[in-house]
Amino acid sequence: MERARVEEVVGDFVNLKRRGTNLIGLCPFHHEKTPSFNVSPTKNIYKCFGCGKAGGAINFVMEHEGYDYPEAIRYLAGKYSIQLEETQADAETIQAERERETIYKVLEFAWQYYKSQLHDTEEGQVAGLNYFIERGFRTKTIESFGLGYAPDKADGLIHEAKKAGFTLDILQRAGLITQHGGDFFRHRVMFPIFNISGKVIAFAGRQMVNSKRGPKYINSPETEIYVKRKVLYGLSHAKKAIRDNDNCFLVEGYTDVISLHQAGIENVVASSGTALTPDQIRLIRRYAGRITVLYDSDPAGIKAAMRGLDLILEENLDVRLALLPEGEDPDSFVKKSGLAGFQDYIREHGKDFILFKTQLLLKEAAGDPMRKTTLVKDLVETLAHIPEAIKRSAFITECAHLMKIDEHILVRETNKAYDEFLRQKRQGIPRDVDSAEREIQHQVFNQETKQTDARIQALPNLADQFQERDIIRILLSYGDKPIPDSNLTPLSRYILVSLLDIIDEFQNETYKKIMREYQDLLEQGKPPGPEYFTHHANKEIQNLAIELLTSPNEYARWEEHDMPLQIQLHPDINYKKDAFDAILRLKLKILMGHIENNIAVINQLQAEGNENEMIIHMRMHADLLQLREQITSQFKNVVLRV
Ligand SMILES: [Zn+2]
Repeated sequence: MERARVEEVVGDFVNLKRRGTNLIGLCPFHHEKTPSFNVSPTKNIYKCFGCGKAGGAINFVMEHEGYDYPEAIRYLAGKYSIQLEETQADAETIQAERERETIYKVLEFAWQYYKSQLHDTEEGQVAGLNYFIERGFRTKTIESFGLGYAPDKADGLIHEAKKAGFTLDILQRAGLITQHGGDFFRHRVMFPIFNISGKVIAFAGRQMVNSKRGPKYINSPETEIYVKRKVLYGLSHAKKAIRDNDNCFLVEGYTDVISLHQAGIENVVASSGTALTPDQIRLIRRYAGRITVLYDSDPAGIKAAMRGLDLILEENLDVRLALLPEGEDPDSFVKKSGLAGFQDYIREHGKDFILFKTQLLLKEAAGDPMRKTTLVKDLVETLAHIPEAIKRSAFITECAHLMKIDEHILVRETNKAYDEFLRQKRQGIPRDVDSAEREIQHQVFNQETKQTDARIQALPNLADQFQERDIIRILLSYGDKPIPDSNLTPLSRYILVSLLDIIDEFQNETYKKIMREYQDLLEQGKPPGPEYFTHHANKEIQNLAIELLTSPNEYARWEEHDMPLQIQLHPDINYKKDAFDAILRLKLKILMGHIENNIAVINQLQAEGNENEMIIHMRMHADLLQLREQITSQFKNVVLRV
């Protein structure tokens, strides 16, 4: 991390120009015409103000090249001629690794075999090659997708593979033989399935004539290297185009992928014989923020497809849906309409998935109030899957408008569904970073809904976590700066000591995590600099740190919050007073929360007629008001001192 200069690593892929202390270029992660991709050599990080992608040198090569962590480290080590010492694996691991290599080798062998059967044998040419040509596949396409042919023989492949030295055990583990010991694929045209880096990991075989004997397609069985839910057909061919277009087309079949590719639409994948899974969606998200689903307009198919799409929303991708004209699939349609016609059609008919669903359901429920109730339930399920609060409320407004129902009702119902959704998540699946993030979003959302409550509207400072965020901003930016003539130094010590008794009251779990981690490091005598958090292993923390350290400072917003604002000095010389104010604001906010709760308790007790308890809480109320006075007067004093 010390040696790898972000500007050099990024510079190998992006044309960077100097601007002030930073470098700027066209973002490699989203499509843009004016540069918003910033590289800061002093902070050793990059950040795109267009799409939000951010990180250090390691993140960059992972993200850009699709490497995993060790691969990225090896790449950087290579670039900087650093000798890597990889831990010596034990004999068992080495053996397992060797066997995996052999499985890849036998799959490669099988692929070469199927290709040569297609091109070099009479049976292959007559049955296989003719089939592809009739479908309209050009020679170049057949080559680039590595299509092949499995002959009508019981053990054609097994025989050849044995001659080449592969064992039955390896063939079995590669999914190439049946339980009865024969070739798995017979008398079919063959589609190799590649992993992201372009290695063959499985096959799909298709019958050349539709017959009642056996299914049209068969896929390799799952093996240790072929896990269906993690694979998207066509991704290795499509990833660059998906990134360039910031959009990924999703189709149902292998031949759809190949036909669209041949027609010039290269950003296309298929979920290959399974319903779309979260793993597959995450794969797409590595390359694009939008997904356009292409479906035939058969009503049963549409409904089934829409259930799967709620999953995509959860992963925070933009989902659009385009229904093809009746009787067409992507393959037939692109052949008929050509590239330009196809693109025009998608532009005209592509609709946002949620609005699409609303309209579709509305049409079904026309004139039937009972159906409309079911419809709202259904829609609320979908809305609850949008993790981003702002996006969610935008859709709620739009849908309420379409359905002509009160927006508040839709907010409340969605909120309920979201609670239920989170509850199920917590029970079902182990918590991961994503679900923790959803929970944070959920809190924000809850507070947004609460804002409609008039009682809280009177106290605007309760409504967000801005005070907490500001503390974290100051902590990460200036935590390692000294406070001269004080035993509470550096600044982080002053902040942490001041907030020691209220860290638990932080509403935001990520902020809390950062505070705790900072505290630990400080206690170990290792106060971290800003670069510690901007290169943090937890991506969520890292992104937050970059966000806070690269955004222009957020003072301006205090005016909206009706807080006393002091004369502004530059933050770099003003960090102590900044911290002092931020701590006061947070304390005030928490105090306001307590006052709020206490008022609710008093009202409750009054309704119950419990006077004794009520008096205790009234006294508490007076104390709390006094505390509030103390804090606000400190603000005033500060103003005077300045
Ligand atoms: Zn970008």
